[in-house]
Amino acid sequence: MRLILLGPPGAGKGTQAARLVEKYGIPQLSTGDMLRAAVAAGTPTGLKAKAVMEAGDLVSDEIVNQIVSDRISEPDCAAGFILDGYPRTLAQADAVEAMMADKAITLDAVVELIVDDKALVGRIMKRAEDAKAAGQPVRKDDTPEVFDERLRAYYKSTAPLTGYYYAKRQLKTVDGMLSIDGVTAEINAVLDAG
Ligand code: AMP
Repeated sequence: MRLILLGPPGAGKGTQAARLVEKYGIPQLSTGDMLRAAVAAGTPTGLKAKAVMEAGDLVSDEIVNQIVSDRISEPDCAAGFILDGYPRTLAQADAVEAMMADKAITLDAVVELIVDDKALVGRIMKRAEDAKAAGQPVRKDDTPEVFDERLRAYYKSTAPLTGYYYAKRQLKTVDGMLSIDGVTAEINAVLDAG
């Protein structure tokens, strides 16, 4: 199973990806997590990405495409993977299509989580509170100010992917306003329907 999870920041992509990992036994490839790891490790990529991420902007296509290309070539991706937070631009969508064509593999579906804008900022704030309460580090971009920028970047660069995948007949939309279990059930239903 090779899947793309689409949706704005706070839509629940990470939460649902974790459940799909359990169900299909394939890895979740979150470019956000990979970039945060690069920032924490102080790699050259991390050094380039840090300020951009903290401002809520998108890291360059060149950087993220390279990260994904390397990652999907690893053995644990042989049976499939869930792309979470990638692609985020039309150029990235073209790039991942080319990567997959190169490997003679195909995408099974693109699942878009639809969530009201008003609910998103609340979810992001809750994530920050939960992390703090659990003694975990709070993401620097989980603030209302940076969230505004992230949402702007989403509408400007990522929202056009809906039409892109719709035209390819790969798009499946799910009501992301349901409970976590409700969203999981809808995702399972659209994937099982093929
Ligand atoms: P996320 O964890 O998916 O919310 O991503 C956190 C931040 O990492 C984003 O706000 C971007 O700055 C950066 N990022 C993650 N994935 C991508 C991507 N596919 N393209 C560009 N920037 C990305």
